[in-house]
Amino acid sequence: MSQDFNVYDVVLKQLDDAADELDLDPQIKLLLKEPVRTLKVSIPVRMDDGSINIFNGIRCQHNDALGPTKGGIRFHPKVDENEVKALAAWMTYKCSLVGIPYGGAKGGVECNPKKLSIGELERLSRGFIQAISPIIGPNKDIPAPDVYTNSQVMSWFMDEFSKIKGVNSPGLVTGKPLVLGGSFGRDSATARGLMYTVREAAKALSIDLKGARVVVQGYGNAGSFSAEFLHELGCKIIAANDSCGGVYNPKGMDPFKLRSHKTDHSTICDYSDSERISNEDLLTLECDILVPAALENQITPEIAKKVNCKLIAEAANGPTTPDADRILTDNGIIVIPDILANAGGVTVSYFEWVQNMYNYYWTKEEVDSKLERIMVEAFNKVYKTHLERNVTMRVAAYIVAIQRLNEAMKARGWVE
Ligand code: GLU
Repeated sequence: MSQDFNVYDVVLKQLDDAADELDLDPQIKLLLKEPVRTLKVSIPVRMDDGSINIFNGIRCQHNDALGPTKGGIRFHPKVDENEVKALAAWMTYKCSLVGIPYGGAKGGVECNPKKLSIGELERLSRGFIQAISPIIGPNKDIPAPDVYTNSQVMSWFMDEFSKIKGVNSPGLVTGKPLVLGGSFGRDSATARGLMYTVREAAKALSIDLKGARVVVQGYGNAGSFSAEFLHELGCKIIAANDSCGGVYNPKGMDPFKLRSHKTDHSTICDYSDSERISNEDLLTLECDILVPAALENQITPEIAKKVNCKLIAEAANGPTTPDADRILTDNGIIVIPDILANAGGVTVSYFEWVQNMYNYYWTKEEVDSKLERIMVEAFNKVYKTHLERNVTMRVAAYIVAIQRLNEAMKARGWVE
Protein backbone atom coordinates (compact mmCIF):
# COMPACT_ATOMS: atom_id res chain seq x y z
CA MET A 1 0.00 0.00 0.00
CA SER A 2 3.06 2.15 -0.11
CA GLN A 3 3.33 4.72 -2.82
CA ASP A 4 6.86 5.88 -2.21
CA PHE A 5 8.60 2.62 -2.99
CA ASN A 6 8.05 -0.57 -4.92
CA VAL A 7 7.23 -3.39 -2.53
CA TYR A 8 8.14 -5.99 -5.16
CA ASP A 9 11.76 -4.79 -4.83
CA VAL A 10 11.58 -5.93 -1.21
CA VAL A 11 10.80 -9.48 -2.33
CA LEU A 12 13.60 -9.43 -4.89
CA LYS A 13 16.02 -8.24 -2.22
CA GLN A 14 14.91 -11.02 0.14
CA LEU A 15 15.36 -13.56 -2.67
CA ASP A 16 18.84 -12.16 -3.43
CA ASP A 17 19.95 -12.39 0.19
CA ALA A 18 18.95 -16.04 0.50
CA ALA A 19 20.17 -16.94 -3.01
CA ASP A 20 23.64 -15.54 -2.23
CA GLU A 21 23.82 -17.50 0.98
CA LEU A 22 22.69 -20.67 -0.80
CA ASP A 23 24.76 -20.16 -3.93
CA LEU A 24 21.49 -20.77 -5.75
CA ASP A 25 21.41 -21.92 -9.37
CA PRO A 26 20.85 -18.67 -11.36
CA GLN A 27 18.15 -20.38 -13.45
CA ILE A 28 16.14 -21.20 -10.32
CA LYS A 29 16.53 -17.60 -9.20
CA LEU A 30 15.30 -16.43 -12.59
CA LEU A 31 12.20 -18.61 -12.29
CA LEU A 32 11.46 -17.20 -8.84
CA LYS A 33 11.94 -13.60 -9.92
CA GLU A 34 8.78 -13.13 -11.97
CA PRO A 35 5.26 -14.45 -11.37
CA VAL A 36 4.03 -17.01 -13.90
CA ARG A 37 0.71 -15.29 -14.51
CA THR A 38 -1.04 -12.01 -13.70
CA LEU A 39 -4.60 -11.34 -14.77
CA LYS A 40 -6.04 -7.84 -14.56
CA VAL A 41 -9.79 -7.45 -14.78
CA SER A 42 -12.41 -4.69 -14.81
CA ILE A 43 -15.55 -5.52 -12.89
CA PRO A 44 -18.74 -3.62 -13.73
CA VAL A 45 -21.03 -3.43 -10.70
CA ARG A 46 -24.55 -2.06 -10.54
CA MET A 47 -24.65 0.26 -7.52
CA ASP A 48 -27.74 0.67 -5.34
CA ASP A 49 -28.59 4.00 -7.01
CA GLY A 50 -28.81 2.29 -10.42
CA SER A 51 -25.49 3.58 -11.78
CA ILE A 52 -22.67 1.30 -12.99
CA ASN A 53 -19.22 1.50 -11.39
CA ILE A 54 -16.14 -0.18 -12.80
CA PHE A 55 -13.74 -1.70 -10.23
CA ASN A 56 -10.21 -2.87 -10.98
CA GLY A 57 -9.19 -6.31 -9.84
CA ILE A 58 -6.08 -8.43 -10.16
CA ARG A 59 -5.01 -12.02 -9.52
CA CYS A 60 -1.35 -12.93 -9.62
CA GLN A 61 0.02 -16.48 -9.55
CA HIS A 62 3.68 -16.45 -8.65
CA ASN A 63 4.98 -20.03 -8.79
CA ASP A 64 3.25 -23.41 -8.99
CA ALA A 65 6.14 -25.85 -8.69
CA LEU A 66 4.80 -27.31 -5.44
CA GLY A 67 1.13 -27.51 -6.38
CA PRO A 68 -1.90 -25.35 -7.16
CA THR A 69 -1.34 -21.72 -6.26
CA LYS A 70 -2.84 -20.43 -3.03
CA GLY A 71 -3.43 -17.05 -1.49
CA GLY A 72 -5.91 -14.50 -0.30
CA ILE A 73 -7.88 -11.76 -2.01
CA ARG A 74 -7.96 -8.33 -0.42
CA PHE A 75 -10.50 -5.58 -0.91
CA HIS A 76 -8.78 -2.25 -0.26
CA PRO A 77 -8.85 1.33 -1.61
CA LYS A 78 -5.18 0.97 -2.58
CA VAL A 79 -4.24 -2.17 -4.48
CA ASP A 80 -1.41 -2.05 -6.96
CA GLU A 81 0.16 -4.61 -9.23
CA ASN A 82 3.60 -4.63 -7.59
CA GLU A 83 2.07 -5.05 -4.19
CA VAL A 84 -0.07 -8.00 -5.32
CA LYS A 85 2.97 -9.56 -7.04
CA ALA A 86 4.94 -9.22 -3.81
CA LEU A 87 2.15 -10.75 -1.76
CA ALA A 88 1.88 -13.64 -4.25
CA ALA A 89 5.62 -14.33 -4.01
CA TRP A 90 5.45 -14.28 -0.20
CA MET A 91 2.74 -16.96 -0.46
CA THR A 92 5.08 -19.14 -2.56
CA TYR A 93 7.80 -18.94 0.10
CA LYS A 94 5.34 -19.32 2.98
CA CYS A 95 3.73 -22.48 1.61
CA SER A 96 7.11 -23.97 0.81
CA LEU A 97 8.49 -23.14 4.25
CA VAL A 98 5.73 -24.93 6.14
CA GLY A 99 5.82 -27.86 3.74
CA ILE A 100 2.31 -27.73 2.29
CA PRO A 101 1.69 -28.72 -1.36
CA TYR A 102 0.89 -25.29 -2.77
CA GLY A 103 2.42 -22.55 -4.85
CA GLY A 104 1.72 -18.88 -4.18
CA ALA A 105 -0.88 -16.40 -5.45
CA LYS A 106 -2.63 -13.25 -4.34
CA GLY A 107 -5.46 -11.06 -5.53
CA GLY A 108 -6.94 -7.69 -4.87
CA VAL A 109 -9.86 -5.48 -5.78
CA GLU A 110 -9.47 -1.74 -5.54
CA CYS A 111 -12.48 -0.61 -3.53
CA ASN A 112 -13.47 0.71 -0.14
CA PRO A 113 -15.59 -2.11 1.28
CA LYS A 114 -16.59 0.08 4.23
CA LYS A 115 -18.43 2.37 1.82
CA LEU A 116 -20.26 -0.38 -0.10
CA SER A 117 -23.70 -1.69 0.85
CA ILE A 118 -23.98 -5.41 1.46
CA GLY A 119 -25.70 -5.82 -1.93
CA GLU A 120 -22.93 -3.91 -3.74
CA LEU A 121 -20.29 -5.97 -1.96
CA GLU A 122 -22.00 -9.19 -3.02
CA ARG A 123 -22.29 -8.10 -6.68
CA LEU A 124 -18.63 -7.01 -6.65
CA SER A 125 -17.51 -10.32 -5.12
CA ARG A 126 -19.48 -12.36 -7.65
CA GLY A 127 -18.30 -10.16 -10.52
CA PHE A 128 -14.65 -10.59 -9.54
CA ILE A 129 -14.96 -14.39 -9.39
CA GLN A 130 -16.69 -14.43 -12.81
CA ALA A 131 -13.82 -12.39 -14.21
CA ILE A 132 -11.02 -14.60 -12.85
CA SER A 133 -12.89 -17.92 -13.12
CA PRO A 134 -10.82 -19.16 -16.12
CA ILE A 135 -7.64 -19.24 -14.04
CA ILE A 136 -8.88 -20.45 -10.63
CA GLY A 137 -10.22 -23.80 -9.36
CA PRO A 138 -9.68 -26.37 -6.58
CA ASN A 139 -6.72 -27.89 -8.44
CA LYS A 140 -5.48 -24.67 -10.05
CA ASP A 141 -5.56 -21.68 -7.77
CA ILE A 142 -7.42 -21.43 -4.48
CA PRO A 143 -8.34 -17.98 -3.05
CA ALA A 144 -8.84 -17.18 0.64
CA PRO A 145 -9.58 -14.19 2.87
CA ASP A 146 -7.10 -11.33 3.25
CA VAL A 147 -7.34 -7.67 4.27
CA TYR A 148 -11.06 -6.66 4.49
CA THR A 149 -12.44 -9.91 3.07
CA ASN A 150 -14.13 -12.53 5.25
CA SER A 151 -16.11 -15.78 5.30
CA GLN A 152 -19.16 -14.08 3.76
CA VAL A 153 -17.14 -12.93 0.75
CA MET A 154 -15.68 -16.46 0.47
CA SER A 155 -19.22 -17.89 0.47
CA TRP A 156 -20.20 -15.68 -2.48
CA PHE A 157 -16.97 -16.64 -4.30
CA MET A 158 -17.69 -20.34 -3.79
CA ASP A 159 -21.36 -20.06 -4.74
CA GLU A 160 -20.64 -18.06 -7.89
CA PHE A 161 -17.91 -20.43 -9.05
CA SER A 162 -20.14 -23.45 -8.33
CA LYS A 163 -22.88 -21.90 -10.50
CA ILE A 164 -20.47 -21.13 -13.34
CA LYS A 165 -19.12 -24.70 -13.34
CA GLY A 166 -22.42 -26.40 -12.50
CA VAL A 167 -20.69 -28.37 -9.73
CA ASN A 168 -20.65 -27.68 -6.01
CA SER A 169 -17.05 -26.62 -5.46
CA PRO A 170 -16.21 -26.09 -1.78
CA GLY A 171 -12.51 -26.70 -2.53
CA LEU A 172 -12.39 -23.53 -4.67
CA VAL A 173 -11.79 -21.23 -1.70
CA THR A 174 -10.81 -21.52 1.94
CA GLY A 175 -11.96 -19.42 4.86
CA LYS A 176 -15.59 -20.41 4.28
CA PRO A 177 -18.11 -20.61 7.13
CA LEU A 178 -18.41 -24.06 8.76
CA VAL A 179 -21.81 -24.66 7.18
CA LEU A 180 -20.32 -24.46 3.67
CA GLY A 181 -17.31 -26.67 4.34
CA GLY A 182 -15.13 -24.33 6.35
CA SER A 183 -12.73 -25.73 8.91
CA PHE A 184 -12.77 -25.42 12.64
CA GLY A 185 -10.03 -23.03 13.68
CA ARG A 186 -9.57 -21.28 10.32
CA ASP A 187 -10.73 -17.86 11.56
CA SER A 188 -8.08 -17.72 14.30
CA ALA A 189 -5.44 -19.85 12.53
CA THR A 190 -3.02 -17.06 11.58
CA ALA A 191 -2.86 -15.90 15.18
CA ARG A 192 -2.73 -19.40 16.67
CA GLY A 193 0.21 -20.21 14.39
CA LEU A 194 1.89 -16.95 15.41
CA MET A 195 1.40 -17.80 19.08
CA TYR A 196 3.16 -21.16 18.57
CA THR A 197 6.14 -19.42 16.94
CA VAL A 198 6.31 -16.81 19.72
CA ARG A 199 6.13 -19.57 22.33
CA GLU A 200 9.00 -21.46 20.65
CA ALA A 201 11.05 -18.27 20.18
CA ALA A 202 10.54 -17.36 23.84
CA LYS A 203 11.88 -20.78 24.85
CA ALA A 204 14.89 -20.42 22.54
CA LEU A 205 15.66 -16.87 23.61
CA SER A 206 14.78 -17.32 27.30
CA ILE A 207 12.05 -14.67 27.24
CA ASP A 208 9.62 -15.12 30.11
CA LEU A 209 6.12 -14.82 28.64
CA LYS A 210 4.48 -14.34 32.04
CA GLY A 211 3.87 -10.60 32.16
CA ALA A 212 5.73 -10.00 28.87
CA ARG A 213 4.56 -6.67 27.42
CA VAL A 214 2.98 -7.00 23.99
CA VAL A 215 2.15 -4.25 21.48
CA VAL A 216 -0.18 -5.04 18.57
CA GLN A 217 -0.34 -2.83 15.48
CA GLY A 218 -3.64 -3.51 13.69
CA TYR A 219 -6.65 -5.02 15.43
CA GLY A 220 -8.20 -6.97 12.58
CA ASN A 221 -8.41 -10.74 12.41
CA ALA A 222 -4.72 -11.54 12.89
CA GLY A 223 -4.03 -8.78 15.42
CA SER A 224 -7.02 -9.35 17.68
CA PHE A 225 -6.67 -13.13 17.88
CA SER A 226 -2.89 -12.77 18.40
CA ALA A 227 -3.56 -10.49 21.37
CA GLU A 228 -5.96 -13.06 22.82
CA PHE A 229 -3.66 -16.06 22.36
CA LEU A 230 -0.64 -14.21 23.75
CA HIS A 231 -2.74 -13.02 26.69
CA GLU A 232 -3.63 -16.68 27.34
CA LEU A 233 0.12 -17.44 27.48
CA GLY A 234 0.42 -14.86 30.26
CA CYS A 235 1.46 -11.82 28.22
CA LYS A 236 0.14 -8.31 28.91
CA ILE A 237 -1.34 -6.34 26.00
CA ILE A 238 -0.13 -2.82 26.72
CA ALA A 239 -1.02 -1.13 23.40
CA ALA A 240 -2.98 -1.78 20.24
CA ASN A 241 -4.35 0.27 17.38
CA ASP A 242 -6.40 0.17 14.21
CA SER A 243 -6.83 2.53 11.25
CA CYS A 244 -8.70 4.98 13.50
CA GLY A 245 -6.07 5.31 16.26
CA GLY A 246 -4.33 3.61 19.17
CA VAL A 247 -4.83 2.85 22.85
CA TYR A 248 -2.23 2.33 25.59
CA ASN A 249 -2.35 1.11 29.15
CA PRO A 250 0.93 0.07 30.82
CA LYS A 251 -1.04 -2.17 33.23
CA GLY A 252 -2.37 -4.20 30.30
CA MET A 253 -5.76 -4.37 28.59
CA ASP A 254 -8.18 -7.26 28.27
CA PRO A 255 -8.02 -8.31 24.59
CA PHE A 256 -11.46 -9.92 24.75
CA LYS A 257 -12.97 -6.60 25.91
CA LEU A 258 -11.06 -4.85 23.11
CA ARG A 259 -12.61 -7.30 20.64
CA SER A 260 -16.14 -6.68 21.86
CA HIS A 261 -15.48 -2.93 21.77
CA LYS A 262 -14.35 -3.33 18.16
CA THR A 263 -17.47 -5.35 17.33
CA ASP A 264 -19.77 -2.74 18.88
CA HIS A 265 -17.99 0.44 17.71
CA SER A 266 -16.07 -0.87 14.65
CA THR A 267 -12.85 0.55 16.16
CA ILE A 268 -10.80 0.24 19.36
CA CYS A 269 -9.52 3.83 19.28
CA ASP A 270 -12.05 5.09 21.83
CA TYR A 271 -11.67 2.17 24.26
CA SER A 272 -12.14 3.56 27.75
CA ASP A 273 -9.57 1.91 30.01
CA SER A 274 -6.59 3.54 28.22
CA GLU A 275 -4.67 6.57 26.92
CA ARG A 276 -4.50 7.52 23.21
CA ILE A 277 -1.29 6.73 21.34
CA SER A 278 -0.11 7.55 17.80
CA ASN A 279 0.97 4.84 15.35
CA GLU A 280 4.63 5.86 15.54
CA ASP A 281 4.64 5.99 19.36
CA LEU A 282 2.97 2.60 19.45
CA LEU A 283 5.56 0.97 17.18
CA THR A 284 8.41 2.43 19.21
CA LEU A 285 6.97 1.81 22.67
CA GLU A 286 9.22 -0.07 25.07
CA CYS A 287 7.89 -3.63 25.19
CA ASP A 288 8.96 -7.27 24.96
CA ILE A 289 7.06 -8.38 21.87
CA LEU A 290 5.89 -6.23 18.97
CA VAL A 291 3.26 -7.72 16.66
CA PRO A 292 2.80 -5.72 13.44
CA ALA A 293 -0.54 -7.01 12.17
CA ALA A 294 -1.57 -4.30 9.71
CA LEU A 295 -0.09 -3.69 6.26
CA GLU A 296 3.22 -3.69 4.42
CA ASN A 297 6.01 -1.15 4.91
CA GLN A 298 5.20 -0.12 8.48
CA ILE A 299 8.61 -0.60 10.12
CA THR A 300 10.70 1.79 8.05
CA PRO A 301 14.33 2.68 8.89
CA GLU A 302 13.17 5.78 10.81
CA ILE A 303 10.87 3.66 12.96
CA ALA A 304 13.34 0.77 13.24
CA LYS A 305 15.95 3.01 14.87
CA LYS A 306 13.50 3.64 17.70
CA VAL A 307 11.92 0.18 18.03
CA ASN A 308 12.42 -0.90 21.63
CA CYS A 309 11.49 -4.58 21.99
CA LYS A 310 13.15 -8.00 22.18
CA LEU A 311 11.12 -9.85 19.61
CA ILE A 312 9.00 -8.93 16.58
CA ALA A 313 6.43 -11.43 15.34
CA GLU A 314 5.19 -10.36 11.90
CA ALA A 315 1.48 -11.16 11.65
CA ALA A 316 1.16 -8.91 8.60
CA ASN A 317 2.82 -9.63 5.28
CA GLY A 318 5.87 -7.48 4.60
CA PRO A 319 5.63 -5.03 7.52
CA THR A 320 9.42 -4.47 7.71
CA THR A 321 11.48 -2.90 4.90
CA PRO A 322 14.94 -4.40 4.13
CA ASP A 323 16.78 -1.31 5.42
CA ALA A 324 14.77 -1.43 8.61
CA ASP A 325 15.53 -5.14 8.91
CA ARG A 326 19.25 -4.38 8.95
CA ILE A 327 18.81 -1.82 11.72
CA LEU A 328 16.78 -4.25 13.83
CA THR A 329 19.46 -6.92 13.38
CA ASP A 330 22.20 -4.44 14.38
CA ASN A 331 20.18 -3.58 17.47
CA GLY A 332 19.89 -7.25 18.46
CA ILE A 333 16.13 -7.50 17.86
CA ILE A 334 14.99 -10.93 16.69
CA VAL A 335 12.30 -10.98 13.99
CA ILE A 336 10.05 -13.97 13.40
CA PRO A 337 9.49 -13.18 9.72
CA ASP A 338 6.04 -13.00 8.14
CA ILE A 339 6.45 -16.12 6.01
CA LEU A 340 6.90 -18.09 9.23
CA ALA A 341 4.95 -16.10 11.84
CA ASN A 342 1.73 -15.81 9.85
CA ALA A 343 1.84 -19.16 8.02
CA GLY A 344 -0.80 -20.65 10.32
CA GLY A 345 -3.53 -19.08 8.17
CA VAL A 346 -2.61 -20.81 4.97
CA THR A 347 -1.78 -24.01 6.86
CA VAL A 348 -5.33 -24.30 8.16
CA SER A 349 -6.55 -23.26 4.71
CA TYR A 350 -4.73 -26.35 3.46
CA PHE A 351 -6.50 -28.43 6.13
CA GLU A 352 -9.83 -26.95 5.02
CA TRP A 353 -9.12 -27.84 1.39
CA VAL A 354 -8.07 -31.41 2.31
CA GLN A 355 -11.34 -31.82 4.24
CA ASN A 356 -13.29 -30.48 1.24
CA MET A 357 -11.54 -32.86 -1.15
CA TYR A 358 -12.33 -35.83 1.14
CA ASN A 359 -15.72 -34.46 2.17
CA TYR A 360 -14.84 -35.62 5.68
CA TYR A 361 -14.44 -33.15 8.51
CA TRP A 362 -12.06 -32.93 11.47
CA THR A 363 -12.57 -31.76 15.04
CA LYS A 364 -11.13 -28.49 16.35
CA GLU A 365 -8.62 -30.50 18.44
CA GLU A 366 -7.38 -32.33 15.33
CA VAL A 367 -6.93 -29.04 13.46
CA ASP A 368 -5.13 -27.33 16.35
CA SER A 369 -2.75 -30.20 17.02
CA LYS A 370 -1.85 -30.63 13.33
CA LEU A 371 -1.25 -26.87 13.11
CA GLU A 372 0.94 -26.92 16.22
CA ARG A 373 3.07 -29.73 14.82
CA ILE A 374 3.65 -27.91 11.51
CA MET A 375 4.40 -24.53 13.10
CA VAL A 376 6.81 -25.93 15.71
CA GLU A 377 8.62 -27.94 13.05
CA ALA A 378 8.90 -24.92 10.73
CA PHE A 379 10.11 -22.70 13.57
CA ASN A 380 12.77 -25.22 14.57
CA LYS A 381 14.03 -25.62 11.00
CA VAL A 382 14.34 -21.86 10.61
CA TYR A 383 15.92 -21.36 14.03
CA LYS A 384 18.46 -24.11 13.37
CA THR A 385 19.37 -22.60 9.99
CA HIS A 386 19.66 -19.16 11.64
CA LEU A 387 22.16 -20.53 14.18
CA GLU A 388 24.09 -22.81 11.83
CA ARG A 389 24.57 -20.25 9.08
CA ASN A 390 24.70 -17.20 11.31
CA VAL A 391 22.03 -15.42 9.24
CA THR A 392 18.90 -13.52 10.31
CA MET A 393 15.70 -15.45 10.93
CA ARG A 394 14.33 -13.95 7.69
CA VAL A 395 17.20 -15.14 5.55
CA ALA A 396 16.99 -18.52 7.31
CA ALA A 397 13.28 -18.78 6.50
CA TYR A 398 13.93 -18.00 2.83
CA ILE A 399 16.75 -20.56 2.74
CA VAL A 400 14.44 -23.31 4.03
CA ALA A 401 11.68 -22.27 1.60
CA ILE A 402 13.94 -21.93 -1.43
CA GLN A 403 15.64 -25.28 -0.86
CA ARG A 404 12.30 -27.05 -1.23
CA LEU A 405 11.29 -24.99 -4.27
CA ASN A 406 14.67 -25.66 -5.85
CA GLU A 407 14.20 -29.41 -5.39
CA ALA A 408 10.67 -29.32 -6.85
CA MET A 409 11.65 -27.26 -9.90
CA LYS A 410 14.61 -29.52 -10.58
CA ALA A 411 12.50 -32.67 -10.17
CA ARG A 412 9.97 -31.25 -12.66
CA GLY A 413 12.78 -30.70 -15.11
CA TRP A 414 12.28 -26.92 -15.30
CA VAL A 415 16.03 -26.52 -15.04
CA GLU A 416 18.89 -28.96 -15.59
N1 GLU B 1 -4.27 -14.21 3.33
C1 GLU B 1 -3.59 -15.15 4.16
C2 GLU B 1 -2.08 -15.02 4.03
O1 GLU B 1 -1.58 -13.99 3.62
C3 GLU B 1 -4.11 -16.57 3.97
C4 GLU B 1 -3.95 -17.15 2.61
C5 GLU B 1 -4.64 -18.48 2.43
O2 GLU B 1 -5.16 -19.01 3.39
O3 GLU B 1 -4.62 -18.96 1.30
O4 GLU B 1 -1.35 -15.89 4.39
